[in-house]
Amino acid sequence: MTYSADLHVHSSYAYATSRELNFENLARWARIKGVDLLASADFTHPIWFSESKAKLVERGDGLYEHGGVKFALGSELSCVARVGGRARRVHVLAFAPSLDTVAKIIRALEARGAKLNGDGRPTLRMSPRDMLAMLLDADPRCFVIPAHVWTPWYGVFGSKSGFDSLEECFGDLTAHVAAVETGLSADPSMCWRVPNLDDMAIVSFSDAHSLPKLARELTVFEGEPSYGGLVEALRSQHIAYTVEMFPEEGKYHNSGHRRCGVSLAPEDVARDGSACPVCGKGLTLGVTQRVGELAQRDAVGRVETPDGGRPPYRSLVSLRQALSEVMGVGVGAKRVTSAYMRLVESLGSELYILLNAPLADVARALPVHGERLAEGVGRIRCGDVHVVPGFDGKYGTVRVWPEDCSRKRAQPLLI
Ligand SMILES: [Zn+2]
Ligand SMILES: [Zn+2]
Repeated sequence: MTYSADLHVHSSYAYATSRELNFENLARWARIKGVDLLASADFTHPIWFSESKAKLVERGDGLYEHGGVKFALGSELSCVARVGGRARRVHVLAFAPSLDTVAKIIRALEARGAKLNGDGRPTLRMSPRDMLAMLLDADPRCFVIPAHVWTPWYGVFGSKSGFDSLEECFGDLTAHVAAVETGLSADPSMCWRVPNLDDMAIVSFSDAHSLPKLARELTVFEGEPSYGGLVEALRSQHIAYTVEMFPEEGKYHNSGHRRCGVSLAPEDVARDGSACPVCGKGLTLGVTQRVGELAQRDAVGRVETPDGGRPPYRSLVSLRQALSEVMGVGVGAKRVTSAYMRLVESLGSELYILLNAPLADVARALPVHGERLAEGVGRIRCGDVHVVPGFDGKYGTVRVWPEDCSRKRAQPLLI
C-alpha cells in the first residue's frame, strides 16, 4: 500500500503564515490536494500545542487523525549555534511518536530557556546535534529530517552557514537522521550527485505557509501508514516517488544578487567568479552552486529509469498556474479559484488530476477552457514547460506555454 505525505507544513502561529492554517482547513485542503498524511506542525508553540491536544485523535499507531486525515507529530526547529568555529543556522524537521513525548520536549526546551510562545518555528540556541540528543532523551523513537538542505541561509548544506556533510553536523547521532528534504530549489537528481547522500532517503514536502501551497511538493511512501511504518519506509527508502516543483522555480536555484537583478548559473560563476558583476559584493550562492561543490559525479542527464535504483520523482506545475495561463488572469484570481474547486469536486484531488486523470475527463470538466487545460496537463506530464530560474530569494517562474524570455526545460521523464 502507498500513502502520500506532506511532513513540512506550518500553522498560523509560525512567522509569516496564513491565519487560515488551522486543523479544520489543513484537513480539508489535504483532501483537495490528495494528501493522506500531514505533519501537525509547530508543536512547541503553546497555543498550537493546546489545539493539537484538543483536535487530534490518537490512532494508537503513533499517528493522529483529524477530519479524516492522518497527522504525524512533526515540527520545524531552527538551530542557531557556533559549531567548528563558525556560526551555523540550520532548520530541522523533528518528529515525535506521541503528544506526551512532545510535552517532554517542550519541558526540556523551556528548561534551557528557549522562547517558544513567539514563532511556531522557534529559534533554539543549540546545535542540531544537541537538539537531536535532547529529542532522543525525550523518546528514542524521535527522528529528524534536515529541512530544505541546500538553501543558502538555513540548509544543513547551505552556502552561508551550512556544513559539508551530515556527519559534520550531527556527529555521533547521524544515524538518527532519517532523510533529507530537497527543498523547493532542488530535486532528487541533484542530490544523487552527492556521495554523502548515497544511503539517505531523499524526501520532498511543501513548507507551506498558506493553504493553496500545501503539497506543492510531497512524498508517496510505501508500506504501513503508522509512525513505525513511516520510520521503516524512510530507513529502507521504501518511497514510491516524490512530487517536485521544477527546481528552477525555487527561490535559491541560481546564484545571484536580487537587488542588482543578477542571476548566474554555476558555469557563469565558474567563469566570472562569485562577486556580483554590478556592485562587486559577494553573490548569494544558490543551490546549484552548492550541489556542484559537494557533488562527485556529473549531473544526471535525460534518464528513463532512476539512477542507482533510487526512488523516482515527478516534477509538476500547480493546477492553479495552468488555469491562470489558460484563463489569462493571475494565479490568485477568483475565477481561477472557482475553476480549481469545480475541477477537484468533479474529478478528484489535484494530485490525481495532474498525474493520472484521463485528459478527456479534464477537457470535459470545464465548459470553456477544458480543452486547453487538458493540453496543459498533458504538457506538464511530459515536462514540456518553460522556466526562468529563481535566485537570491526571488522565486523563479514556470510557464506551461512559452513566453519570449523563457527557455525550455529539458525534463527527464522518470516515472
Ligand atoms: Zn525552514
Ligand atoms: Zn550586486
